[in-house]
Amino acid sequence: MNSSIVLLPGDGIGPEIVEQARLVLLKVAERFGHTFDFSSHQIGGIAIDETGDPLPQPTIDACRNAAAILLGAVGGPKWDDPSAKTRPEAGLLKIRKELGLFANLRPIKLFDELADASPLRADIVKGTDILFFRELTGGIYFGESGTSGSGEEETAFQSMTYSVSEVKRIVRMAAQAARGRSNRLTSVDKANVLEPSRLWRRVAAEVMANEFADVQYDVVLVDSMAMHLINRPSEFDVVVTGNMFGDILTDEASMLPGSLGMLPSASLGDGGPGLYEPIHGSAPDIAGKSVANPLATILAAAMMLRHSLGLTEEAEAIEKAVAGVITDGLRTPDLARGDQSKSVSTEEMGAAVVAKL
Ligand code: ATP
Ligand code: MG
Repeated sequence: MNSSIVLLPGDGIGPEIVEQARLVLLKVAERFGHTFDFSSHQIGGIAIDETGDPLPQPTIDACRNAAAILLGAVGGPKWDDPSAKTRPEAGLLKIRKELGLFANLRPIKLFDELADASPLRADIVKGTDILFFRELTGGIYFGESGTSGSGEEETAFQSMTYSVSEVKRIVRMAAQAARGRSNRLTSVDKANVLEPSRLWRRVAAEVMANEFADVQYDVVLVDSMAMHLINRPSEFDVVVTGNMFGDILTDEASMLPGSLGMLPSASLGDGGPGLYEPIHGSAPDIAGKSVANPLATILAAAMMLRHSLGLTEEAEAIEKAVAGVITDGLRTPDLARGDQSKSVSTEEMGAAVVAKL
């Protein structure tokens, strides 16, 4: 088995949180008798500083040969100059493209003890545990675009395209994941208005009927879905949707748990290595202060074990350990709300997860 894990700590709090995830993975290796080969490579601002390139060739080569990639975050004010030749974020876009990562997975799980951090009432959000699959390399963001005319007649357009194969591969991936969870899949589209959505709905229904008849399946229009996420988020299991709808809905949903510091994500392609990262950014305002919450990155490491290394039991052990430290009352400052006196550091939080394991 390929057990080579590439670490891309990146910028800001990236190195601090990736280190805690690495320590957690080492503990998992010890407990379950695995060996992971870690190697660390440069991406983002630090790579620009040292090589002039946000994604140097050695990083690309290492990622291609890896089983999986764990990324911290890229970017920060130091590289924000809009006139700069290259930006840290370009490194991230390029690696996604190089690896053909067409599916973006975002679990939205609310830890019940943190329900009072949610902007919604606890009785509405309690039990929320959704896994979004957003199509990442097609749809309107990659459609043909252009402008014509001038003055009041100036017109701009952008086309939305989906092919049968693009829909099939992401619906299959999402349906597979549903089988390992509560066995329910919801596909979100706008088939009452958009032609690509009609194709999406037809192809998804075929895939589900022919290959996943055991999975409970329904379809929801994107505008309804935006409402359901606010009034009954706990009723969804796996949700699959296109690029733009997924972009908007996952940002909406990421607010439900009330803390960015707890949310991981994954980007997967066909067979090759997956890329795992927290959804939050490099948080330059708190970098180097040992106050960053490492749990999103630790949960990303759990996703990595599940989706790229096939280590389900090990992934669940990490998730259980994270739930355990939350239940024990451990809080980094972002989770501590009014009571900062009892908050723990990045390293203490990581060590607590390791101890649970
Ligand atoms: P992006 O880089 O994706 O554009 P952003 O710059 O808008 O994101 P973040 O870097 O995610 O935002 O930071 C937003 C706020 O959340 C900051 O105040 C940051 O300190 C805080 N934050 C982000 N991640 C964490 C974390 N892991 N622990 C604690 N606080 C965090
Ligand atoms: Mg940022």
